[in-house]
Amino acid sequence: MSNRRIGVMGGTFDPVHHGHLVAASEVQARFDLDEVVFVPTGQPWQKVERQVSAAEDRYLMTVVATASNPRFSVSRVDIDRDGPTYTVDTLSDLGAAHPGADLFFITGADALEQILSWRRADDVFDLAHFIGVTRPGYELDDTHLPPGAVSLVEVPALAISSTDVRARTAAGLPVWYLVPDGVVQYISKRRLYSVPD
Ligand code: ATP
Ligand code: MG
Repeated sequence: MSNRRIGVMGGTFDPVHHGHLVAASEVQARFDLDEVVFVPTGQPWQKVERQVSAAEDRYLMTVVATASNPRFSVSRVDIDRDGPTYTVDTLSDLGAAHPGADLFFITGADALEQILSWRRADDVFDLAHFIGVTRPGYELDDTHLPPGAVSLVEVPALAISSTDVRARTAAGLPVWYLVPDGVVQYISKRRLYSVPD
């Protein structure tokens, strides 16, 4: 029997939007993944300049957004670990939780640019194969990364960002169709993003 193939979609997910969901769905199909695990970050070390929503809110929105897809799940490993999130820890914990599985870490073009600034950047390539996906406004380029460590994949282009969803909410503009309906309702119920970042 071949190894289980598990995609790992890390993100702040503040909030999760259709750009994340399309990227995960496309990679799941193209790489024949058994499952894609969404992993909301703990306190994100690269986003110290703004207040990130409570981990529990980001986690619940991600659960709401992924619940209907039998191949999607959400992991609490990063939000339950104290301190800032490092991808090397995310991948070690998920590897331990799924012995013998092959992990595929999915990352957008913008995040791929920054990988070498990650803590223990060399180690992450031993823990997972990386899949860089296209994102409008960013160049998808892996020439700075080890040969063979990364696959580049074109996904349907959705020019959506969480930053824009937060700004639109603060400005009273609609976010319907940018995020799943349940996430629109959750944002409203919890009054998230009512003031600008
Ligand atoms: P923020 O604006 O707060 O940074 P974001 O929209 O960039 O939010 P993140 O949670 O930072 O979302 O991103 C998680 C992962 O999803 C990253 O690898 C990012 O590159 C990728 N991603 C986010 N939006 C898209 C999109 N529209 N298309 C493809 N990949 C995306
Ligand atoms: Mg981002």
